Amino acid sequence: MNIPKTSKAMVLTEYKKPMELLDIPIPELNFGDIPVRVDLAAVCGTDVHLARDELSMHPPCPIIMGHETVGEILQLPDTIKFDTAGTPVKPGDRIMWSHFFDGTCYSCKVLHEPVMCEHSRGYGFSPAKELRGGFAEYEIIIAGTDFVRVPDNITSEEAVGACCAGRTVVNAFDRLADCGGIRHGDSVVVTGVGPVGLFSIVMAAQSGAGKIIAVDISPIRLDFAKKWGATDVVNSADFKDSAERVKYIRDLCGGRGADIVIECSGLPSVFAENLDLPAYYGKYLIIGQTGESAVPIVPNKIQRKGVVAIGSHSGDIRHYIKCLKFIEANKSKYPFGEIISKKYKLEDANLALEDMRKGTALKAALVNK
Ligand SMILES: [Zn+2]
Ligand SMILES: [Zn+2]
Repeated sequence: MNIPKTSKAMVLTEYKKPMELLDIPIPELNFGDIPVRVDLAAVCGTDVHLARDELSMHPPCPIIMGHETVGEILQLPDTIKFDTAGTPVKPGDRIMWSHFFDGTCYSCKVLHEPVMCEHSRGYGFSPAKELRGGFAEYEIIIAGTDFVRVPDNITSEEAVGACCAGRTVVNAFDRLADCGGIRHGDSVVVTGVGPVGLFSIVMAAQSGAGKIIAVDISPIRLDFAKKWGATDVVNSADFKDSAERVKYIRDLCGGRGADIVIECSGLPSVFAENLDLPAYYGKYLIIGQTGESAVPIVPNKIQRKGVVAIGSHSGDIRHYIKCLKFIEANKSKYPFGEIISKKYKLEDANLALEDMRKGTALKAALVNK
C-alpha cells in the first residue's frame, strides 16, 4: 500500500490553547517502523490535564496527544511476521502498542519493569513532526515498539480501554497480587469511577471479591460501576463531611473497614481520606494520582493498622495482552464498548477534550471516518 505524504493531525502548539488542525509530513520511515492508520483514538483524562499543563510532566510543544489508539497496519517490514504475543500479523490488521522501551537500561534489564525505562519514547507526548500521537490520521510505530494484534471478535471500542486504563489496572493488580492480591470474599473499595476505576471494579469482580464498593460524585458513573460489577455504590456528595462518609463505607464492610482500597480518583484529598478506610492489615493500591499537588496525611494511619500501600504506574505489553484476553473472555458479561460514550471527528478534538473536562463524556474518542 502507498504511504500518504502527509497526515492531518490535531496539534497542541501551546499549552492552555486549543489544538490546531495541521498537515504533518509523514516522516521518513526507519527500518522496522510500522505506519498505521488511526482507527480509534480515545481521549484520556491525562490528555485533558496535559493540554492545560496540569501534569507532573511537561513535554515541549508542539505535540500530538493521544496514547490510547487502535491503529490499522498500513505496511509491515519484511522482518515482522508476528506481534509480541506471537500472533501472525499482516497489513490491514488492527493493533495497539505500548510506549517504546529500549530493553537495555537498568529498569528494563535488571528490574524487568520497562515502564520505568530510562530511555522510553512515548506515544501521545512526543514532537508533532514525529507523528507519534493518536489525534491524527496516521501514526508511526517506531521500530522495536511492542505491539499486539486486536482479535477480530473484539470491536475497537471494546478493545481501546486496554490501551491505558485496562493495562494500568492489570499491572496494578499484578503488584497487588505480589502482596496477597484479592482473596475470595474480600471487601474492595474503589474511589473514582473513571475508566481506571471501572477496570478496577470489573477485575475485582472477576477476582472473587465479596463486596465491591464504588465511590464517586457522578450518578452516571455510579450507574456504570453497577454494570461493571460493583455491589454497592456510594455518592460521596451525599454526606455532610468526611467522617460521616468514612463511617458509612466502613460499615458497608462490616464495620472493620475494607480489605482493599483502590484509589482511582486522582484527587489528593481523596487519597488522604482513604487512609481511614482500610481494615487491619488492609491493602491500599494507588493508581490514580498523577498530579503534583501536596496533601497533609497522618503516617501513623498506615503504620498502626499494618496497611500495605502499593503504588503502580502504567503498564507494558504484558499488561495490554492480558487485558485484551480479559476483555475477550468477559465481553458477554460486561459492556466494555460502552466506555466510549461519544465519538467525535478528528477536527472536533477540542470539543472532545472539553466534554471530558466537563464530565459530559465518560470517555470521548476520535474517529477518522
Ligand atoms: Zn490514558
Ligand atoms: Zn529501558
